[in-house]
Amino acid sequence: MAAYDYDLFVIGAGSGGVRAARVSAAHGAKVAVAEEHRVGGTCVIRGCVPKKLLVYGAHFAEDLMDARRFGWKVPTCDFDWPTLRDNVLDEVTRLEGIYQNTLGNAGVEVIKQRATVTGPHDIALADGRTLTARVILIATGAWPAIPNVPGSEYGITSNEVFHLEKLPKRIVIAGGGYIANEFAGIFHEFGSHVTLVNRADKILRGYDEQIRDRLLQISMTKGIDFKFHCKPERIEKQEDGSLCIRLEKQDPLHCDVLLFATGRAPKTAGLGLETAGVALDDKGAVKVDDDSRSSCDSIYAVGDVTNRVQLTPVAIREGQAFADTVFGNTPRRVDYGCIPSAVFSHPPMAGIGLTEAQAREKFGTVKTYTSDFRAMKNVLADRNERALYKMVVHPVTDVVVGLHMIGPDAPEILQAAAVAVKAGLTKQAFDDTVALHPSMAEELVLLR
Ligand code: NDP
Repeated sequence: MAAYDYDLFVIGAGSGGVRAARVSAAHGAKVAVAEEHRVGGTCVIRGCVPKKLLVYGAHFAEDLMDARRFGWKVPTCDFDWPTLRDNVLDEVTRLEGIYQNTLGNAGVEVIKQRATVTGPHDIALADGRTLTARVILIATGAWPAIPNVPGSEYGITSNEVFHLEKLPKRIVIAGGGYIANEFAGIFHEFGSHVTLVNRADKILRGYDEQIRDRLLQISMTKGIDFKFHCKPERIEKQEDGSLCIRLEKQDPLHCDVLLFATGRAPKTAGLGLETAGVALDDKGAVKVDDDSRSSCDSIYAVGDVTNRVQLTPVAIREGQAFADTVFGNTPRRVDYGCIPSAVFSHPPMAGIGLTEAQAREKFGTVKTYTSDFRAMKNVLADRNERALYKMVVHPVTDVVVGLHMIGPDAPEILQAAAVAVKAGLTKQAFDDTVALHPSMAEELVLLR
């Protein structure tokens, strides 16, 4: 008789958990995965995927406007939020089905209820069953963190934003990071009045200063309001259902929806990890070593719950490395160097490697090359929106150590260029490449 019910029990069927479960099963392990919400996790159900579809939907506002300059007779356009919302939610459901099938086809048992840890090899299910596993993988992700202010319950988070009954006329977004800037663009394009309230004086901390300043400038020109050095102090619900947001040292804001985009915290509360001696850091993240192993030998963790890099592709790599190492007899570790990322704002921005400031700090001096241009399409559309590309180059070796951009299709362009940066190519290698004309990406090989 087997010593344990399963070789691997995964808690959380998001990007990291699903990859780990599927690959471990392919390596011959007997695997179960428990999920208390929906299979697919943040990325598929309430994150990257539905968000990107809303970004596409929102961009039609500009495309339809610009089309007139290209000779198209565009009648008056009306946007219908319920149509887009329901189509997006249907697509999410379709993808959830695909994820479930993938797990089923791989021979992974999916248990659709909450599971908690009760010991190094022990799991309790919400229905009262108890199970054992040789290895437990925590892949519960992260959850929106809401500031503890009176009336915060009247606000929503990125979990609820995809389900709004109607489009808000006025929306206040608290925070200045990824989610805040992406949804500021989305709602603005849909026609809502957007006010972004940020506790610091900079948006998108960690991104190159010039690039994020460009986003700020473009967003303000479009009509998005920014309030800096302030945060919601108290939220009051009015008789008509609208909200009054009291701010520190500033006039109150009135809106229909308040969206908290104030970071995401690892989801470990109530998981019972202390029963197995799993150490957490001060943010509640599972502390893990380079092999994603926690302080308990039989318990591992991957993805946002470890708070290493909160990005889907990283969680997937961590899940894959875990499965190959623990069940595939092929030890592998995730390389966290040079991870590209993007903000799907309007226009989008993307970056990889060191910002100019980080490179200066590291190398003392640094060479930078920029191209500040108006995309051909924007010129004809009479859209006064300039793109900015910046290459950060090592002062001695000529190696490109960072690449940052804002402009149409920046994430698509950067993903391809990221291969060159990750490979450690020099600026000369970019210069040696013949331009593909006319394109926006050609600016990368024409930087002087
Ligand atoms: P971010 O960490 O990007 O931004 C959080 C923002 O909230 C910051 O501006 C932060 O300010 C502010 N903040 C934090 N706590 C408070 C508080 N108590 N009161 C007021 N403001 C506060 O988090 P997001 O929620 O936008 O996104 C979570 C994570 O999800 C991201 O870090 C990213 O890893 C991932 N994500 C990735 C996306 C992508 O790849 N395109 C899209 C969406 C999310 P300060 O800067 O001063 O700390």
